[in-house]
Amino acid sequence: MRRFVRELRAVVGPDGVLDEPGALVAFAADSKVRGMAPVAVALPTTTVQVQDIVRLCGRERTPIIPRGAGTGTVGGAVPECPALVLDLSRMNRILRIDENELLADAQPGVVTGEFQAAVEKVGLFYPPDPASAATSTLGGNAATGAGGLRAVKYGVTADWIASLEVVVADGQTIRTGTRTRKGVVGYDLTRLFIGSEGTLGVITELTLRLIPKPKAKATLLALFDELSQAGAATVAVLRSNITPAAMELMDQTALAAVQDHIGDLLPPNVCVLLIEVDGDADEVAKQANGIRELLQGVNAREVRVANNAQETQRLWSARRAISPALYEMRAQKFSEDVTVPISRIVDLIVGATKIAQQHKLVHASYGHAGDGNMHVNFLYDADNPDETRRADTAREELFRLTLSLGGTISGEHGVGVAKRPFIAWEQGPALLDLQRRLKRAFDPLNIFNPGKIFP
Ligand SMILES: Cc1cc2nc3c(=O)[nH]c(=O)nc-3n(C[C@H](O)[C@H](O)[C@H](O)COP(=O)(O)OP(=O)(O)OC[C@H]3O[C@@H](n4cnc5c(N)ncnc54)[C@H](O)[C@@H]3O)c2cc1C
Repeated sequence: MRRFVRELRAVVGPDGVLDEPGALVAFAADSKVRGMAPVAVALPTTTVQVQDIVRLCGRERTPIIPRGAGTGTVGGAVPECPALVLDLSRMNRILRIDENELLADAQPGVVTGEFQAAVEKVGLFYPPDPASAATSTLGGNAATGAGGLRAVKYGVTADWIASLEVVVADGQTIRTGTRTRKGVVGYDLTRLFIGSEGTLGVITELTLRLIPKPKAKATLLALFDELSQAGAATVAVLRSNITPAAMELMDQTALAAVQDHIGDLLPPNVCVLLIEVDGDADEVAKQANGIRELLQGVNAREVRVANNAQETQRLWSARRAISPALYEMRAQKFSEDVTVPISRIVDLIVGATKIAQQHKLVHASYGHAGDGNMHVNFLYDADNPDETRRADTAREELFRLTLSLGGTISGEHGVGVAKRPFIAWEQGPALLDLQRRLKRAFDPLNIFNPGKIFP
């Protein structure tokens, strides 16, 4: 091991490797899953360093766990065996913003929110917006196929990646995709690497698509007495001729968790649809009015437009704060990202509530209702074995319900470790076998994130 660490230091410099046990502990977990500490952490700054590390690990048969910011929720960036964590957070440069071609090149460790802000400074817009944007990285977003708040209108991270530079298992660098608007030469390996959760190679550069920044936006707030009414209203908006940029649902428990942010903005015991529309100023006013009229016709108790920038900011920051805030209600939670076809959203919401009631669990549902993607949370106390068992059962029942509604057990977080036992509930043996063979073709020594995704 000493020789391995010495060789790593020769590649990335003395301060580019961590091997003190105290420093390694922080890399044993992501935002949800705890695994084991790595044998060392390497912090490269260039693609060439990543290539040298991959070759060294191949020679030593040491597994590599790529890591962005560690905000993942399924254990993808967490070692399960003695392994090197390849922390890409120092590869954090925006290399170029090409205003003519509406493209930007960036290293994988750039924090998504910082990238959004940088392109907005020159009047451009990068729409993917995971709720973790303030901390998660572009590389992590690509590797998980992250969704986010504005997917209703703009799609997910995958829709905004033109090309990827990837270091593959033999240490070579490949470039997938093109810088053109179209391109169909060869297999679409860009899409294959997106969502591959660090199991096929290390993303070392991304070429991202941009658009001109919308000139105006408005936030609407629709209040409902019942969660199912908010679900039905979501479907009504999606079926109308107005496409909001974002449409997020928050139930009573989720709102109670972020009461500090919301203060007196909302009455008690309501659930809320938070909707953003964007475009030219005229268009925004028209869309806001159209949505207000539509929602008033489908049982909304009240629909209003946020009064000013400060109120808008408070509402969206409350939405982003829900996940961490729920931990103040109970020490643990299952926080799923199940996704159903839009016509089944109400069935999912009602079904999840029934499951929670049956198992006597505190439950919160919130999230990207406009994509049929709900974050269903079952809260529990890990010191209470009975409650833990009930939460576990509720989670499995939620997966069964989602699949019975024609949905998927993960709309955006991926499989990693946490959903690995359930992948075969969704995908058949032939599909799983083909994916395992793809993994072997890309990574014959099984050094990239071994054991993740597939049981
Ligand atoms: C409060 C909160 C809100 C969230 N909201 C959302 C949301 O709205 N939408 C959403 O989709 N997710 C959300 N997430 C989950 C998480 O933020 C995303 O999965 C995010 O994309 C992970 O990025 P990261 O940089 O933290 O990656 P990490 O957690 O470090 O890694 C995630 C996976 O990607 C792999 N990986 C990382 N970088 C690379 C690379 N350069 N090359 C190859 N593989 C790599 C890792 O091995 C791992 O499998 C949220 C999480 C939290 C805590």
